Amino acid sequence: MDSFALAQEVLSGNRRAVARAITLVESTRPDHRATAAALLEHLARPRREAIRIGLSGTPGVGKSTFIESFGLMLADQGLRVAVLAVDPSSARTGGSILGDKTRMEQLSRHPNAFIRPSPSQTHLGGVARRTREAVALCEAAGFDIILIETVGVGQSETVVAELSDVFLLLLAPAGGDELQGVKRGIMEVADLLVINKADGDLKATATRTCADYAGALRLLRRRPQDPDGFPKAMTVSALEQSGLESVWAEICALVQWRRESGQWALRRAAQARHWFYEELRQTLLARLDTPAARARGAELCHLVETGQTTPGKAAAVLLAQLWPEFSQHNSTESLDLARDTP
Ligand code: GDP
Repeated sequence: MDSFALAQEVLSGNRRAVARAITLVESTRPDHRATAAALLEHLARPRREAIRIGLSGTPGVGKSTFIESFGLMLADQGLRVAVLAVDPSSARTGGSILGDKTRMEQLSRHPNAFIRPSPSQTHLGGVARRTREAVALCEAAGFDIILIETVGVGQSETVVAELSDVFLLLLAPAGGDELQGVKRGIMEVADLLVINKADGDLKATATRTCADYAGALRLLRRRPQDPDGFPKAMTVSALEQSGLESVWAEICALVQWRRESGQWALRRAAQARHWFYEELRQTLLARLDTPAARARGAELCHLVETGQTTPGKAAAVLLAQLWPEFSQHNSTESLDLARDTP
């Protein structure tokens, strides 16, 4: 199927077409990349906008249980829900933790839902692009809500924060000491701190944990993208499906405020800018990833290691070989390293 025909299928909301389109954007084959790029261009207009919800949390905190319960609640209301995962850990283990087929079993069978597990064996740069393009495909397909899930490790939450309109951090009930363990960076990107497992024996602890986090949030500087009272901490039980309506109500209130205040558009524009420069960076780096560039890079690297040239000079030499025009702007010096080195 050509990119135009596939674009029409995606626009009609056909979930199988969305799945096929995501497989296409995940491919690294040059001909697939070209078709994927054409497909994304066909879909860029008219622009449809979903609410993109980022969700992060350590393994075991209840992300899949939460997505199952929360996603079902929304899907039952008639909203179309897509779930995507950013899972850099799969690059290490070779298996996809978030791709486990048994997760979100009910949601995956719901006619209003679409779940895409993360592919394994991808590096973070690839994960970011693939997720961003998958988000664009789901938006074009008319999903109302896109849940983008990540385990809270490394840079994956930065990727998710740069892709989402609202960011949820799922936390476990814990004592005061453990509160320190939450990285400041992620606290700062979160809009809602959701303390899960507020049920049974854990309920009292969850309530206390929530109060502790609420206290910590009050110490953060007020961000321009927030109305009064945000970021906010709240308790839920994903297992017993309690507190989920409140989470949804808070998300809707935040989205409405941001839309009316113009913060929504500002954030989306800043994200588009971020991804533009990221795309440039990745494309430039890919130019260094050819056999010839790698071989030349290794030679130059040896000269740097053994002190025969400087890192700056070696980099300029390699760049000038990849882009002859680069040398004109940077240096009129001889690029014949053999002559320059002792
Ligand atoms: P994930 O690794 O973050 O996706 O976590 P899971 O959703 O797989 O949940 C990890 C464990 O916590 C499972 O045994 C769940 O049954 C349990 N769990 C998840 N949500 C809740 C909850 O709201 N209350 C309780 N008591 N357990 C929960």
